[in-house]
Amino acid sequence: MTEQLYRLTYYSYNEIAEHADGLADPIDSILEASRRNNAHAGVTGALMFNSGYFGQVLEGQRRAVEATFERIQRDTRHSDVSLLAFEIVETRAFPTWSMGFVGTRADGKARYDRIADESGFDPLRMKAHQLFERLRSLAIEQEHNKEG
Ligand code: FAD
Repeated sequence: MTEQLYRLTYYSYNEIAEHADGLADPIDSILEASRRNNAHAGVTGALMFNSGYFGQVLEGQRRAVEATFERIQRDTRHSDVSLLAFEIVETRAFPTWSMGFVGTRADGKARYDRIADESGFDPLRMKAHQLFERLRSLAIEQEHNKEG
């Protein structure tokens, strides 16, 4: 029998924005470790951030998602990790992304600032499904732009 698929949604406070010259390096380092580990563990998902917060969706088998989230919670690059949802789902929403970063990669600080403005997300005012939908629509947009 195939194991059930779980989706976990959380947000956290970004602790790196204030301490780094630009966000590119720390974000690249998070993405590099995420893609390597998640591909190995069968975890998919997407990550977004602004200067204040991270929001992330993780999908996969229960044990893999839990182990990933336990590591993430211990990470000092963010704090006050708040779980919004942990639920069984039928299908993956980010099947091809070991960890998609919503907001195209690194062209320097101006680019990140613009992404942060454009993404305009305030997880304190968002429920799990709203954060999820926001990530999913930005992911679809990003895939579309890549093809175009
Ligand atoms: P390593 O290869 O040991 O580390 C990768 C890089 O990160 C290195 O440069 C290391 O110096 C640096 N680093 C590691 N831990 C810390 C830390 N606590 N503080 C500062 N720098 C550190 N990991 C995943 O596997 N999957 C995810 O989806 C995922 N999402 C994340 C989302 C957010 C918002 C954050 C902040 C972290 C996320 N991480 C994720 C990273 C996770 O917290 C661990 O750092 C990572 O899983 C450790 O894996 P590793 O031992 O293979 O990394």
